[in-house]
Amino acid sequence: MLETKLIQPFLESEIKMEERAGLKIKVYGDSVLRKIAKPVKRISDEHRQLLSQMAEVMYDDSGIGLAAPQVGLSIQLIVVDIGEGLYKLINPKIVKRQGRQSISEGCLSVPGVCVKVKRAKQVWVQAQDENGRFIEFEAKNLFACVLQHEIDHLKGKLIIDYATFLEKLRIKRKLAALKTKIKVAKL
Ligand code: ZN
Repeated sequence: MLETKLIQPFLESEIKMEERAGLKIKVYGDSVLRKIAKPVKRISDEHRQLLSQMAEVMYDDSGIGLAAPQVGLSIQLIVVDIGEGLYKLINPKIVKRQGRQSISEGCLSVPGVCVKVKRAKQVWVQAQDENGRFIEFEAKNLFACVLQHEIDHLKGKLIIDYATFLEKLRIKRKLAALKTKIKVAKL
């Protein structure tokens, strides 16, 4: 598989920067989106570089969050910016949740599809920053929503998994079309 080839050399720090310069968004149907992402053990310049590149891809595509599996790398890195500053997070996890909210969410990896997702209104997140420092912070509303969405990506979970039966019927054709595109692209 393509992603395995990419991840191994990356973790072994053998891949050159130029080879990762053109990160591309992986779309629904690509198996990397369903994998459990590996935690980062030793944070290196490669990870810092990748986080910056992920932020670039996110801003280019007008996203407010992006997880490494979305660019084909099954490792625990996410970037988030809801317009209040860029967060680059390594090994993020939610340690506490509170309240409920329901926001209609899109995803760069499931283009053209929106699903109303019920999530916690407030979350407490533990992570490491790009220098390896352990951080913990609280997030509310949209920021909490995006963090939960991106951390879901690290668990192989997508917004469509939250769709109700009726929503699934509604988006079925779009998903089938996305999967077909993947197959065509891989030929
Ligand atoms: Zn997403």
